[in-house]
Amino acid sequence: MLHWGYDEHNDKHPILIASDGESTTIFGPARWKEVFPVANGDRQSPIDIKTEETKYDPALPPISPNYDPTSAKVILNNGHSTSVEFDDTENKSVLRGGPLTGSYRLRQIHFHWGASDDIGSEHAVDGKKYAAELHVVHWNSDKYSTFVEAARQRDGLAVMAVFLKIGECNSQLKKITDRLDTIRAKGKQALFTNFDPSCLLPHSLDYWTYLGSLTVPPLLESVIWIILREPISVSSEQLAKFRSLLCTAEGEAACCMLRNYRPPQPLKGREVRRN
Ligand SMILES: [Zn+2]
Repeated sequence: MLHWGYDEHNDKHPILIASDGESTTIFGPARWKEVFPVANGDRQSPIDIKTEETKYDPALPPISPNYDPTSAKVILNNGHSTSVEFDDTENKSVLRGGPLTGSYRLRQIHFHWGASDDIGSEHAVDGKKYAAELHVVHWNSDKYSTFVEAARQRDGLAVMAVFLKIGECNSQLKKITDRLDTIRAKGKQALFTNFDPSCLLPHSLDYWTYLGSLTVPPLLESVIWIILREPISVSSEQLAKFRSLLCTAEGEAACCMLRNYRPPQPLKGREVRRN
């Protein structure tokens, strides 16, 4: 059985034996194209943002997140990251403004990080990586009826990205990192309510924006990216808690989620705008 992951070298982590005795070959980002040909497409993410080449667009309005804390439902470990999932059956929590037309409904938030504190974000800025990156995922609920339908459309998804920079312990992020012990194994979930993800946003909501894709398989080219320019802080101890999550289920040989970022992809003539 083939299964995607983040290790580039099959000789390092060649085979996982599941509790049912089935062996699984894990293949890293460089080989995702073998199963997901769109990995070589024209609008793949993440990218390295070359700030001098971004274009100031005075017509870009500010972005306007409006989240209802009661829409938070659960925190889970899906084997590739940890996410908080939100009730998206109605427009309780939405993102508007910026490059977006209409309302994009909040679906979930998740994180990307690395094996050490000096690398871990998916997007890079002038070649520099941050320690980690938060993705706040929304779908176009004005035009489409479900997340799955929206994820196949060119204007279906809007992901707001926030960089995490090593510094002081982030008391808002602590609400999440304190719960990671309870969802250590793949497939675990726990109730997670009364949470407004705007508590994780930086002071300034200035952004870069470009058209891209999901950064995990199936890598669909449906994402309007909104990347906040100001990072938030995370302590080294908090980041270590993310790395202690397991990409394996209970009963399998334990394997820690040490890194889960895709490297930058070719820009292929796309324009990155800034407000
Ligand atoms: Zn992501």
